[in-house]
Amino acid sequence: MEKENDGLKGTGNFIHNYIVEDLGENLNKIHTRFPPEPNGYLHIGHAKSICLNFGMAKLYGGKCNLRFDDTNPSKEETEYVDSIAEDVKWLGFDWEDRKYFASSYFDKFYEIAVKLIKEGKAFVCDLTPEEMREYRGTLSAPGKESPYRNRSVEENLDLFERMRAGEFPDGSKTLRAKIDMSSPNINMRDPVLYRINKASHHNTGDKWCIYPMYDYAHPLEDAIEGITHSLCTMEFEDHRPLYDWVVENSGFKDLPRQIEFARLELTNTVMSKRKLRAWVEEGIVDGWDDPRMPTICGLRRRGYTPEAIRDFCERIGVSKANSRVDKGLLEYCIRDDLKPKAPVIMGVLDPLKVVITNYPEGQTEMVDVENNPANPEMGTRQVPFSREIYVEKDDFMEEPVKKFFRLAPGKEVRLKGAYFVTCTDFVKDDAGNVVEVHCTYDPETRSGSGFNGRKVKGTLHWVDASRNLKAEVRLYEDMMIDTEDGQVMNPDSLIVKKDCVLEEGAANAKPGERYQFMRNGYFIVDTKDSAEGRPVFNRIVSLKSSFKLK
Ligand code: ATP
Ligand code: MG
Repeated sequence: MEKENDGLKGTGNFIHNYIVEDLGENLNKIHTRFPPEPNGYLHIGHAKSICLNFGMAKLYGGKCNLRFDDTNPSKEETEYVDSIAEDVKWLGFDWEDRKYFASSYFDKFYEIAVKLIKEGKAFVCDLTPEEMREYRGTLSAPGKESPYRNRSVEENLDLFERMRAGEFPDGSKTLRAKIDMSSPNINMRDPVLYRINKASHHNTGDKWCIYPMYDYAHPLEDAIEGITHSLCTMEFEDHRPLYDWVVENSGFKDLPRQIEFARLELTNTVMSKRKLRAWVEEGIVDGWDDPRMPTICGLRRRGYTPEAIRDFCERIGVSKANSRVDKGLLEYCIRDDLKPKAPVIMGVLDPLKVVITNYPEGQTEMVDVENNPANPEMGTRQVPFSREIYVEKDDFMEEPVKKFFRLAPGKEVRLKGAYFVTCTDFVKDDAGNVVEVHCTYDPETRSGSGFNGRKVKGTLHWVDASRNLKAEVRLYEDMMIDTEDGQVMNPDSLIVKKDCVLEEGAANAKPGERYQFMRNGYFIVDTKDSAEGRPVFNRIVSLKSSFKLK
């Protein structure tokens, strides 16, 4: 049943056109990279970038590197490095032996900075951050040249060397490119290449107290690794002239080309790492892998498959126009993937007892139920049936509304795999809640008996009252809801149901296994909180959706 799906077929994708333009017959020379900053866990937006970079390389028989863009010493941690590698692998992509760290190029960056100084293309500047802002100018007004711009090469070399040696305090000096203070592009107005930051780094420890800026380091990382196409999100479009300036002046022969695409935004979803980290730190969620998180590990724990996520990334495509994708599409993709694969079982989330008054007391028979109506190859299983069973509370109505084809006094329904039953009576507790429903069954109507006498409109799932598994089931909704005034937190994003009854066979369900509960949705056995014989089920997605595939 496995679908061939690389996360990117790419027809009509504008990036392909650029690549074909650049590489012509040599498409297999394509070399891309996925360059996360290890300051958080990956989310579904990153999955788009992963599928694009790895997918593009795979499509043409080229290469894609995994590169940790760890040039910022204070924010990064090895926990993030490990989780990122795990998530990329889980999504189905292979960097082979090319797992790189930007921090391992620090010597090379320094060497290139010295070269730029020697060529008169960089200088050490003593302006304070405030002064620098003032000198930078605005979109409509040109900037002013720094008074330190015309220092001699010798003086610059000496000062830069002493910056590196730790002689100056944080923020007191920078190394800047000497480009053009009157450029209409603010990024080209003598941008900072290095800053002083006496912080230790997860990889290089205390070796460095000057660190390169993103706009200087990133193009060099690409050039060092022989990247041909550097795919990034739209906010870097205005930085492209600086990207090109850096690679052109660094002395590399083969220059990478930056191409921007729109970042993924999803309805009812927070995608910023900073906000997600805050939820984790404030304990609003059960860690980065809380099943409501849009992180890759959250989606994994929720029950999403790599196939569904790759399918989603392929369907959204790439363009330059920013837009919000309906989360319903992601849900569509997981249903589509699981429908033929996940065994269908019966589970009652809100149990209501049904007594079949004309069924012999003490008798249990085994009935055959198909394991997946959408995939007959999956065969059948046997399920116990007896005088007392459970159905969903809301499958009974004392006074049925129009078109209610379920249980109500005098109404007949089919019990999946078993018999037709007719409701004859019900029992209420002191508070007026219906606590028991009485039915009679028609022995002629046993499923598979060829009975053809009457038709009923409703088929209910049910579970035997004495042979079953009591289980905890968790139902998830979106954490955030989009409103006209922005996003608001949904107070009911997690509903825990402790008293669900499932088919007894569900006791053997192993962590990570996925099932459809008939009429109730797709579920996964939670990998964190389940114990041997006591699975806890997370709902991945319900069966119904208002989302329509265009
Ligand atoms: P955040 O703003 O959430 O911290 P980021 O862009 O800083 O995200 P990085 O670790 O720098 O995160 O991202 C690694 C790669 O993933 C970059 O190439 C970036 O462009 C890409 N990426 C990040 N978010 C998205 C998104 N929502 N859609 C597509 N690509 C994304
Ligand atoms: Mg970033």
